[in-house]
Order: sequence, then structure tokens, then C-alpha cells
Amino acid sequence: MASLRIHDCVIIGAGPAGSAAAIEMARAGRDVLVLDRGEFPRFRIGESFLPRTKRAFRRLGVLDKCLALPHARKVGVEITMGDWRYGPQYFFFRDVFGDGDKETFNMARIHLDQMLMESAREAGAEVRTSCAVHGIERMEDGDVRLVTDSGPVHARWLIDASGQATTIGRERSQRRFHSFLRNVAYFEHFENVIRPSGRGANCFGLVIADEGWFWMIPLDATRTSVGFVASEALHTSLDIPADQRLQWAIDRTPVLRERMASAIGPDRNRTISDFTYRCDPFSGPGHFLIGDAAAFLDPVWSTGLTLGLLGAEQAAGSVIRMSNGSSPATERARHNAWTTRITNRAFRLVEGFYDPGFRDLLFSPRRTKQLERAFVTLLAGEIDRVPFGVATRCLALGALVTIQRHRPIAARVRPFKMCLASADGVDSQ
Ligand SMILES: Cc1cc2nc3c(=O)[nH]c(=O)nc-3n(C[C@H](O)[C@H](O)[C@H](O)COP(=O)(O)OP(=O)(O)OC[C@H]3O[C@@H](n4cnc5c(N)ncnc54)[C@H](O)[C@@H]3O)c2cc1C
Repeated sequence: MASLRIHDCVIIGAGPAGSAAAIEMARAGRDVLVLDRGEFPRFRIGESFLPRTKRAFRRLGVLDKCLALPHARKVGVEITMGDWRYGPQYFFFRDVFGDGDKETFNMARIHLDQMLMESAREAGAEVRTSCAVHGIERMEDGDVRLVTDSGPVHARWLIDASGQATTIGRERSQRRFHSFLRNVAYFEHFENVIRPSGRGANCFGLVIADEGWFWMIPLDATRTSVGFVASEALHTSLDIPADQRLQWAIDRTPVLRERMASAIGPDRNRTISDFTYRCDPFSGPGHFLIGDAAAFLDPVWSTGLTLGLLGAEQAAGSVIRMSNGSSPATERARHNAWTTRITNRAFRLVEGFYDPGFRDLLFSPRRTKQLERAFVTLLAGEIDRVPFGVATRCLALGALVTIQRHRPIAARVRPFKMCLASADGVDSQ
């Protein structure tokens, strides 16, 4: 009987995290096999990228390929209350501390993910699509065996990049959900959405209501991705089908009604669960977890791809170093510590958005420029190497948020409540 080929690394999932890890390792001459149960090109949500994501694309050598695909420029974030109260607030990446990128782009994932998967192939990785992993028979350092649609697979190391399927997290019951970040997202692509002009031109649109928030992401010259992220409470209490809830929310929100007055798009929306979780420990005997397979974070600050690409770089580096003699225990400890640190930072950033004290400061006309710049630096995705000055300013910002919660130093914002608003107009609040 012919003996089974032993790959240096097998990766579950050819999404951005899996493909990026494959590119890194294949370019370093490692024998990499990527298995994905889906067929490409395929739809995925998660279309707005941070300046740090752009740098990760550049490092992978795929930035020019990205920019050759349909995309839209992104220079910052425009934040508004759903009925325009307090006026739009702007945060621009040009204010980022340090020499990181000062702008980035958005793009439909159908293009990006296909390009990344093909780039992994071009780099020398073997990629099998329509090939699901059904089970893990063995997972020890240097000896991993999987049961797959294309038969048994044998490798020295396993990287789980299976996204929200969290193959290892589920198998080992490691997935822990966040106590309150349990949202549901309703979304679609539209033509003819009015885009902000003036200061807001080329900004990611974030529109806040008490019951959730909207994203408005220009994807290319004409198409805009619009989504509504609803709290679990709203999701479970609404008595209308899930695939009509985006329109329901738009009808009750003046900013969306105005910008989508002539929008053309499907009658029904897509839906995805948006529950924040983490699957730590992020590595163990024979394996590493990256991307959404490691942790998923509420997408308000568009951190998903940044975390996935940076995690891929870390895990690929570990596999390469182990094949050069580094000890598995050292690499495991390194990956766990790195992923824990980055995930904790990103979690704090997202938890802040849901803190009423933070929202008060967000809409305050008396924002401190230096603190704002530190916040924008994190918003740009510069969370893997936070300069000392940014870290101390962010600590100061955190302290102000705590003070604001207990003894207001800025006016309290009155949230816009869409449930008090009718589809024809806004009831008095
Ligand atoms: C509503 C919403 C909005 C978002 N917005 C943004 C945003 O604006 N910006 C941003 O950066 N991020 C955003 N994200 C997050 C982003 O989409 C994810 O972080 C990103 O897709 C993770 O990439 P990944 O490679 O880890 O996983 P995925 O892209 O999900 O890829 C995982 C792959 O694994 C494959 N797979 C799963 N199980 C198996 C199996 N058993 N066998 C074989 N293959 C398998 C799947 O087919 C899939 O192709 C958003 C997420 C949500 C839910």
C-alpha cells in the first residue's frame, strides 16, 4: 500500500486567514495543503478594511492585486445618530500616530477571497475546494491526521482557519461567548445609495440607534453595502421575518431613509449571527487557531480581517520556525500570548463602543485632539505594536469614560430610538 504523503502543514479554510497563512508558508518553501468545503468565488460579509489591513496585504505581496479589483477608497469613519442629532462626527486616518498607512479601501469579499485563494495556489500551496474536513483523528506535535472529503490527510501541523465554523473550538468545546455582545446582522448590497460628500467623502458610514447600528460601506464606484446590527433583545422581540428586517430598520431611521431614498436592491436581506466569542487556548498539541476560528468580534470597527491576517502571519511564522528547529512549546506559548494580547485589545475597543460613557465622549464637541488621535490609531488597526504614547493616551481615555459613566464631565447623549419612530416619520421622544 502506498504511504500517505505527509504535508508540513494542513490548513482548514481558504478564507483570508487560511490563504494568508498558506502564502507565507508556501513562499518559505513549506509543503502546504489548504482544504475548504466551499466553492469559490463565494459571498462573504466583511468588506471594510483598516489601514493596518492594507499594510498586511502589502507585506503578503497582494496589495497591487487588491487595488486592481473593484474597490472604494476609505479615509476615515463618519459617525451619526440615526436622526442626525448632534451632527456627524468624523475620525480620519490621516490623524494616526506613527508612520502607518493613512487611508485604506473597501471591497466586495467575493473578489478579495478568490484572489487570495488563487495567490496561495500561485505561491505553491495545494488548495482543494469543495473538500470538507469531517473529523480530526489525531492532533499531536508533528503528527496530525484528518478525515476529509478527499480521503485521509496527514500533516505535521494543523492551522484551523475555518472561520465561524470553529472546527477545533467546537470539537474541544472551547468556544466562549461574550456576555453581552450577542448581535444579529441583516445586510445587502444596493445601487444608488447617496454617499456623504464634503468632509464625509470616502468615509465608512456608522449610524447609531439605541437598538443597534448601521454600516454604509461603498464597495466600488456604484455599489454600497448596507447592514443593520441588531441587539439580541431586538432580534428576539421583532415579529417580522428576519429577511425583511433591514428594510424595517431603514424605514425607521431618518439618516438611512434619506441616503437610501433612491436605492435599488433586493427586497429581502441576508442574515448572519454576530455573537462575539473566543476559542482559547489559541494553540495546543499539533495546532494553531487563527482568524474567526480563534475569535470573532462584533464588526463595528472592522477589525476582523486585520486580526485574521496578523494571526496568519504569526501562526505561519511558528510553523516555519518549528521546521527550522524551534520547539513546539516555545511556539505555542508565543502564539497563545500574542493572540491573547491582540484579542484582548480588540475586545476592549469594541466593548468601548457599547459603553454609554464612551458614546457621550464620541459626540462631545470638546474632544481632546491628542486622545482622539490615539483612539484613531487603534481604529486604524495598529493594535499589534501600540506605541507607548498611544497606550498611555488610550488609558487616559478609558479613565475618562469611567468617570463619565459615574460623574458626567460631558453632556449625556440622548440615543435615537428607532422603536419609537414610525416608518413615516419620527415620533416625539
Ligand atoms: C456582519 C459582519 C460584518 C463584518 N464586517 C467586517 C468588516 O467590515 N471588516 C472586517 O475586516 N471584518 C468584518 N467582519 C469579519 C470578517 O468577515 C471575518 O473576520 C473574516 O471573514 C474572517 O476570515 P477567516 O479567514 O477567519 O474566515 P472565513 O472568511 O469565514 O473563511 C473560513 C473558511 O473555512 C471554510 N470551512 C469551514 N469549515 C470547514 C470545514 N469543516 N472543512 C473545510 N473548510 C471549512 C469555509 O468554507 C470558509 O471558506 C464582519 C463579520 C460579520 C459577521
